[in-house]
Amino acid sequence: MTKVTNGSLLQVTGLKKHFPVHKGILKKIVGHIKAIDGISFDIKEGETVGLVGESGSGKTTTGRSIIRLHPVTEGEILFQMDGQMRNVHQLSKPEVKNFRRQMQMVFQNPFASLDPRMSIKHILLEPLVTHKLGSRQDQLGKVEELISMVGLSTSHLDRYPHELSGGQRQRVGIARSLALNPKLIICDEPVSALDVSVQAQVLNLLSNLQKELRLTYLLVAHDLSVVEYMSDRIIVMYAGKIVEIAKSEDLYRQPKHPYTEALISAVPRQQYNSTSKRSILPGTMPDAFNLPSGCNFYDRCRYARDICQQTDPDLAAISANKTTSVACHLADELMLEGYTE
Ligand code: SF4
Repeated sequence: MTKVTNGSLLQVTGLKKHFPVHKGILKKIVGHIKAIDGISFDIKEGETVGLVGESGSGKTTTGRSIIRLHPVTEGEILFQMDGQMRNVHQLSKPEVKNFRRQMQMVFQNPFASLDPRMSIKHILLEPLVTHKLGSRQDQLGKVEELISMVGLSTSHLDRYPHELSGGQRQRVGIARSLALNPKLIICDEPVSALDVSVQAQVLNLLSNLQKELRLTYLLVAHDLSVVEYMSDRIIVMYAGKIVEIAKSEDLYRQPKHPYTEALISAVPRQQYNSTSKRSILPGTMPDAFNLPSGCNFYDRCRYARDICQQTDPDLAAISANKTTSVACHLADELMLEGYTE
């Protein structure tokens, strides 16, 4: 147990999640998939931190490890509970119940995450009943409050998930995540299953709720455009490691890692500087079962040099801006392209 000293709500240190790979009749372990391979970051109270990377980068496993859906292989996840930083993977049973109230998740696929046999009213009542919060009348009042907070009406409470649109279902998922008044919500690709036309509405809703309820978000997405307008800081992951952490405005204008530059160039923007050369990202991410020596991004990096193949770069603050950390041997010398407004 550690006292909170720097305003952090969450501190992740040296986190590893390696999945064993079994083979043969005896199911012998023949290796490990290194889904997360030693990442460290923190989230301050009231912040929105975007966690971005392609499929297979380890971002979803990170979110799931933080909320205890996965045991971790190594490392520490500290979360502020009752003024103390507690390791979320070393909680007693009663503490887990308290933890569940304070940290919630909004899932990618709202249809899969809502029980199709339950009405919206019962979906929203369930966490209140499980945690024995208030009388039945209080709980029903809270359900009405929750449904209006997410822009739906009480007439939706008697419906079932299949009777709602994708955007409405995700609003219900968000309402359910708010039922227990959590401090931190992990939003795992919250709009990627939705039509483009409703994505902005759901992101606006999340943003408004944050201001209203002083929430803290970890916003997981594969697309930088989704996290752009909401995030205070952005973490970019590649092949199980963090390659860049920066304030949002710095990351978009002056990316410091070649992978971040490539992700930015993939965002369709009218304002994108049309005279600049778009960074094309060739190839695919390396196999997490068989990662290369040196920099994981070497095979796809158009700036790679010999040292990159030999030595894995550490994540370190750059000299020009101490709030930006980058894992690249050339971070202090490359002039990469962001976008101009
Ligand atoms: Fe590219 Fe080398 Fe930097 Fe890796 S360390 S991102 S290969 S320049």
